[in-house]
Amino acid sequence: MKEIFLCAINNILSGTCQEDCKFCTQSVRYHADITRYTYKSIEQIVSEAARAKKNGALGYCLVTAGKGLDDKKVEYVARAAQAVKAEVEGLNLIACNGTATKDQLIYLKENGIDSYNHNLETSEKYYAEICQTHTWGERYETCENVKSVGLALCSGGIFGMGETPEDRDSLLNSIASLSPESTPLNFYHPNPALPIKTRNIEFDEALAIISKARRLLGEEKLLMVAGGRELLFNNKEHAMFDAGANAIVIGDYLTTEGLAPSKDRSMLEALGYKIATSCHPANVEE
Ligand code: SF4
Repeated sequence: MKEIFLCAINNILSGTCQEDCKFCTQSVRYHADITRYTYKSIEQIVSEAARAKKNGALGYCLVTAGKGLDDKKVEYVARAAQAVKAEVEGLNLIACNGTATKDQLIYLKENGIDSYNHNLETSEKYYAEICQTHTWGERYETCENVKSVGLALCSGGIFGMGETPEDRDSLLNSIASLSPESTPLNFYHPNPALPIKTRNIEFDEALAIISKARRLLGEEKLLMVAGGRELLFNNKEHAMFDAGANAIVIGDYLTTEGLAPSKDRSMLEALGYKIATSCHPANVEE
């Protein structure tokens, strides 16, 4: 029986970013109607982690808005990681805090972080069309830093932001060149406040991307359908799993609501999948 891995996201510092990524509601430049706050309390993070674990999550991602880490933020994420590790057993802790130096990543690792998520987002060529305040190269470098310090790398991107089929291939090849342990595939969720108004991706194209990603990444890696799943795959989830996905995000995303975790668990059960209980994708088919 195929196992599906569940990952939950906690936006622990939300919506206060000065960067100009045209797909992101957390940029202060676009005034999107989202909840913005700084530094969620550690107690709240721990209690939300415990709830995610109860809901079947194996991966738990601590996300902060902003271009990257500074001294204050790295200390905060480290404290949050320590507290979650002490109180909630069996979660693979992922940090997603933007660009990061090797020293910052080593510090997070020493404090309980297992993996670091940093997405390439789109192709190197198309990146300047969606962001002018930092470069694709900086993103790639952070991913290399993650690997060099021995953290597991989680890196993926977003599809449907106006890119061409060539851009999609280029992004998938770049992701594969990093050989990440897990890859989140996001499908753009339009928001009226954002400069990118529409999503140029259909169901069949999304399936082709999943299949290609699986081929390039290999069978042993986690391939997650993350943001945009509800828009493209609602009631057709079997197709994305058949195409090669073996992980999903449960609960809410960074600034948009997801389905109730119980609904996702029922969906997986109805499709005959087992919810994974260990972070190592060992038994793919029984
Ligand atoms: S750097 Fe991150 S948080 Fe800031 S606008 Fe870009 S994607 Fe959003």
